[in-house]
Amino acid sequence: MEDFSFNEDLNEMVLEAKKYSKYGSVADYIPALGEANPETLSIAIYRGKGDCIAAGGIYEKFTLQSISKVITLAVALMDHGEDYVFSKVGMEPTGDPFNSIAKLETNIPSKPLNPMINAGALAVTNMIIGQSIDEKLGRILGLIHEMTSNSEITFCERVAKSELDTAFLNRSLCYFMKQHGVIQSSVEDLLDLYTKQCAIQVDCTDLAKLGYVIANEGRNPETGRQVIPLHITRIIKTFMVTCGMYNSSGEFAIRVGIPAKSGVSGAIMGSLPHGLGIGIYGPALDDRGNSVAGMKLLESLSSRYNLSIF
Ligand code: GLN
Repeated sequence: MEDFSFNEDLNEMVLEAKKYSKYGSVADYIPALGEANPETLSIAIYRGKGDCIAAGGIYEKFTLQSISKVITLAVALMDHGEDYVFSKVGMEPTGDPFNSIAKLETNIPSKPLNPMINAGALAVTNMIIGQSIDEKLGRILGLIHEMTSNSEITFCERVAKSELDTAFLNRSLCYFMKQHGVIQSSVEDLLDLYTKQCAIQVDCTDLAKLGYVIANEGRNPETGRQVIPLHITRIIKTFMVTCGMYNSSGEFAIRVGIPAKSGVSGAIMGSLPHGLGIGIYGPALDDRGNSVAGMKLLESLSSRYNLSIF
């Protein structure tokens, strides 16, 4: 890894990568996400203790969407331990789209392949301990607050409701899994919690800090607190490499080589072990649901500064 004195380059790289947003389009299967400006591209790179550089419209807020799957996995692993969590959800990547139902039927016993696809993430969210939806969501938000030192972070009710009203595919996944005993609770309550967790709103700096804590073995550099146990950050980083960019994870590992997780809002969180956290927002997506300009920006950063972990 080279020295990161790329303050000036960063603006230029964002402008260059932004041109690729014309090859993508915003997610509109969640109607509220369809309102995003497809030409936006912003990035923050966090290197610990207030050391953060950024470019683009960095104060813009966006929702975590699938990036929240990483956080809920950490909470579920802290709540129940590995044996229980992985008795319900597998550890293998899939070549199928993130919302596919196909493998639930062909895998015997029926078990989602990994926690980064929707079926697996729904099964993981189902495990979060709490007396009510509010308490469970509060625990997810609590971890995010501890990781970012930003206790203002909350969820966007409009995006959550927009997804809850239209989540027919996720409902199907839940009912299928309920039939097979993977989930037990009320499907509507689970979807209520899941759509709220996906609608947690951050900016690029918050996202870069989340990525940094995962990269740096679970410690918040500002408070010095160990907020996620080391062995859990290892599990998470590995899932980010093998499954974080959905069914583009293999190509992304070759072209970029940074553990990363994306969401259909157009966000990407990067975690470079012992190095830095990256938060990107660029809502124009490719047909697999990854930010086109965001991936281009990561590819340029990686090749210019030799960031690949491989
Ligand atoms: N909330 C979205 C969904 O379940 C998250 C998917 C994603 O970001 N890939 O469809």
